[in-house]
Order: sequence, then C-alpha cells, then structure tokens
Amino acid sequence: MTPPSLPLPDITLAGTLFDTLRQNSLDGTGITRDSYGKGEQAAHDLIIRTAQSLDLEVAIDGTRNLYVTLPGVDRSAPCTMTGSHLDSVPAGGNYDGAAGVVAGMAVLAGWRAAGLTPPHDMTVMGVRAEESTWFPYSYLGSKGAFGQIDSAAVLALPRSDTGRSLASHLTECGGDPATFGQAWLSPDRIARFVELHIEQGPVLIEAGLPVGVVTGIRGAIRYRDARAVGTYAHSGAVPRRSRHDAVRAAALFIAAIDQDWERLEDAGRDLVITFGKLSTNPAQHAFSKVAGEIDICMDIRSLEPETLIEVDALLARRAAEIADRARVQFVLGERTGSAPAVMDVAIIAQLSDAAKALGIPAMRIASGAGHDAAVFAQNGIPTGMIFVRNDRGSHNPEEAMDMNDFAMGARLLAHALCPSWPARPE
Ligand SMILES: [Zn+2]
Repeated sequence: MTPPSLPLPDITLAGTLFDTLRQNSLDGTGITRDSYGKGEQAAHDLIIRTAQSLDLEVAIDGTRNLYVTLPGVDRSAPCTMTGSHLDSVPAGGNYDGAAGVVAGMAVLAGWRAAGLTPPHDMTVMGVRAEESTWFPYSYLGSKGAFGQIDSAAVLALPRSDTGRSLASHLTECGGDPATFGQAWLSPDRIARFVELHIEQGPVLIEAGLPVGVVTGIRGAIRYRDARAVGTYAHSGAVPRRSRHDAVRAAALFIAAIDQDWERLEDAGRDLVITFGKLSTNPAQHAFSKVAGEIDICMDIRSLEPETLIEVDALLARRAAEIADRARVQFVLGERTGSAPAVMDVAIIAQLSDAAKALGIPAMRIASGAGHDAAVFAQNGIPTGMIFVRNDRGSHNPEEAMDMNDFAMGARLLAHALCPSWPARPE
C-alpha cells in the first residue's frame, strides 16, 4: 500500500501568524522582538496559543526555548525537528527567524487538518535569543537547550539596551535562573534538524529562484581590534620616504588582502572578507595630518576550515610585509571566531530531489550568516537548511519575502520532516 500524500502546509495559518507577529512587534520604525523581553515573549505566547488550538504538545525548557510537538505513531523513535528564533534585532524585519517557526507550525497544522499521524514525533522549536545584539553571546538559546553554556556567566550578562542582567529578564519571562541552561535536548533522540530561514543576501533574488538548499554555514575569523600604528606628522612638511602613515598602511594592507581574496575565489574557494570599520582617532586626526594610528575590523568567513587557516596566515604575512614597506607597526589583536558547520549530504540531496519532484526551482547556496542549525550540526545531528528568497536583506524593516516563495519552502520542509513519505507532485 502506498502511503497517502504528504499533507500540504497550512499557508493561511502562516499568513495569519505573520500578520499577528507584525502587529505585536511594530516599534514605529520596524519590528522589535527583544530577547527575553516583551517582544520575544509575545511571539512565544502566540505560538503557544496556536499550538494549543491545534491540540499539539507544548513544552518549555529551562532556557525558555519552546517546543511544539505533533505526536507520531512510534513515540519512542527519534523525532525530526525544525524551528528557528523568535527574537529580532531592534527595528528589524518580520521574517528573520520567525519564518522558520511559522513554517514548522504550518507543516504541523497541515497534518492536523488532514487527520493523519506521522510515523515519528515532529517538533517545532522556538529558539530564544539568537540575535546577539541583545546579549553578547552566539546561539544562546540553542546552546542552552543542549546544556552547553556556562549558566552563571551567561545569567550575569547585561542586556545592551536595559543594562539589566539576563537573570532579571529571564525571571520576567517566567523563567528560573536555577534551571537556566540545563540540557533539554539529547542528540541521539533527534533524527534530523531542518531550519527554514529567509536568505539575508541577494543570491536567490539575483538567480531568480524562490528557494535555496543550504550546503553549509560559514565559519568566521574575526579581528575586532586590529591596529596599524605609525607616527603623526605634518601633511605638507614630511616627504614620502620619512612617513609612517597608518592610513596608507591600512589601505595597502586591504588592497593586498583583496588580491589574495580574488586569487582564492578564482581557485574555487568559498570566501568572503570584510573590513567593516576603519577608524582614525578623532581626538588626533586632522585634514592636514599624516595619521599616526588607525583601528581596523576584519571579518573573514568560509565554509572551509582550511581556507580560514590559510587566510589567517595570509593576514599575518601581509601585515608583516606592509609594516616593513610603510614603516608602521601592525597589531592584529585578539582573534575570535566560529567553526564552519557542514549540512548533512543526505539531507542536501533529499531537499534537492524533493524540489525537483515538486517542480520547485532551487539552487544550492552557502549561508554567510550564522544560524541555530549550526549548533545542531555541531552536536552531530544530521542537519539541513532551506533558504527562502527575500529582497532587501534582513536586520532592517524592508525585508520582503513573497508568501508564494514561503509556501514552496514550507512544502520542502514538510518533506524534510517526514522523509519516509516520498515526495510527489500534487
Ligand atoms: Zn535569523
């Protein structure tokens, strides 16, 4: 006997959820859902009410992450999971994060409407505090779910706007500092995690494709406090050969690294390099002065660990070369970063096959931004991601996702969450 068709996600419900989320979080400029604050909590409350109205199971862990579960036939089998974050940056957009939770709810609602039971539990997670603009910590919610945070240190973190501790905000959301960060998820109970998210760059827009199958999440090397130090001097009186010009040194350094980037990209390597902030010292700099110092921020990302290592070595080499040439000192300062997260090859292949079978135009794409899916992948759980086309980027009120694109992404997600039921055109 062939299994019945996979139920279609409830896109009407998704539209209502997006509208209500927007209404609840308008701030006059954009959307604000503050982590462990009123905005994020209102989003969690909305998803809880929706889950209850669909007779789905609701659970909340010590970190105040939310889990909505559609019970399967075999409750002892590992579940499949989806989800994303429900917080946003200040004056952000309505879809970054929320789209992943809404898509999961639409899939579960589709099963309920069809009166069918999946072979195993399917869970949608509403992750807390993914946007590190509120609390300076990457993947706070998802790491907390796996018991992988230093709870005492994290509870003491001040929120960037209020200055109050996470412990204080947590208590307001009904949480208990005593259970914060306790492990709730265990990797061997999760068969797979697939996150749907809007694309935050222009790749799908430029390709004219509604969805992308994510191959991996780029890791990063960051130098937030690099500096070139030379000597302040009179702009008219000091000849080229006697200068120790920090701005010129920074420019030469950036140009050299840019050439390295072009060469590596031409060789087929995945790499993006950003010098997002360059600052001379306003207390000393002047129109008629050779700059004696400059602060440089560097953010280097790649899917390939070996590329990150190679570029890191290049940064040191170019810095030494330019220091010599421009007679300045380079100090790269503290290095931070994160490891790349590779998506599961079987899930990538399944998503690509399902897109083909369903007539959904899709391409493979690397994720430049970090996502909670990285934490699941790093815990050894087979992990995948679906990107939905979105115009005008994210982290701003102008995010523009088309509901038709979202519906295609949600259909792919439905297949990813119940891979034993074959994809078939409707
Ligand atoms: Zn996001």
